[in-house]
Amino acid sequence: KGTPTRAPIEEVQSKVGMVRLGSNECWTGPFPDAAQAGAAMVQYGNRYEPTNLRAQLIETVSQVEKVPQTHILPWPGSSDPLSRTVVTFCSPTRGLVTADPTFENAWRTAAWLGVKVTKVPLRAENRYATDVRAMLAADPNAGIYYVCSPNNPTGTVTPLADIKWLVAHKPAGSIVLVDEAYIHFAGTPSAAKLVADNKDVVVLRTFSKLFGMAGLRLGLSMARPDLHAKMMRYDGASQSGTLSIVALATGTASLTQSAAIVERRNQMIAAREETFAHLKKYGLTYLPSNANMFMVDWKQPAQTMRDAFARSKVDIGRSWPIWPTMSRVTVGSAQDMQAFCTALDQIMA
Ligand code: PLP
Repeated sequence: KGTPTRAPIEEVQSKVGMVRLGSNECWTGPFPDAAQAGAAMVQYGNRYEPTNLRAQLIETVSQVEKVPQTHILPWPGSSDPLSRTVVTFCSPTRGLVTADPTFENAWRTAAWLGVKVTKVPLRAENRYATDVRAMLAADPNAGIYYVCSPNNPTGTVTPLADIKWLVAHKPAGSIVLVDEAYIHFAGTPSAAKLVADNKDVVVLRTFSKLFGMAGLRLGLSMARPDLHAKMMRYDGASQSGTLSIVALATGTASLTQSAAIVERRNQMIAAREETFAHLKKYGLTYLPSNANMFMVDWKQPAQTMRDAFARSKVDIGRSWPIWPTMSRVTVGSAQDMQAFCTALDQIMA
């Protein structure tokens, strides 16, 4: 009854009424059929597991990704398995190698652990792919080589051939950690095949992006069972009670909606390309992107532009220290991107 009250959290308050292009969220919620499947679970919320929802998710992932069920673990989002992989496979003698810029959670966990972190710039000469050869050369004895593809914040893809090369040449006992949070937006081949082939690879997925489930919390890790066993060594074998039945049901129903996935991807691409056309009118440069975000170069401190957009009620993303004049902008709906373009017009005037 009535309008639901909003949580009095500063973060929420500060973005009320703003067009949200700052957090790489999806502009819309779960697919309608999936939302319905999730909503149907609410009434069984008194049960930890009213039916075999977790097993159904694993079975569905296995069919869609062609990875054995034994190699799949669901999580409440992908942040936990991301830091957990770092905690498990890095050590005082085996550091983390990561691209720069990239999603920083892995290197932050490594820094917290006190292990060596080696950052390698993206390949500016080759569509800003992760430079796997330079990463191996920079630390030939690392515990983890982290490849985010498509990469956050650039949206650029690292060819699967490069990931395969890294897996073939990396030192024994190390892991290639492939973060595929944005892969549905790119539609490019997944490294899941390497997991199915029992390589030293951990692939992470999240339902927070194209599936529109960031607040519902669901993610996956895919890896050989012995690698997962190491990651789970301080939880016992089971994860019982960590997953919401609403998230499980919504996520399972999302995975098989291949037509809706392509449609959402195409909507995003259309909105992104229209935005690029608008940036070009002002001679602004941006990096090529295969996902729902892009880096635009303002040729002035990115924070100044972020503040200017905020005054027009548009929350654009942050910058990365390596590129202080560039902002990451999430691609929202056509309407969101229209608001971005209108705000840009105001700022440029
Ligand atoms: N990996 C990447 C590359 C991300 O950008 C994010 C979130 O923005 C995550 C992982 C973690 O997301 P979640 O915990 O919602 O799955």
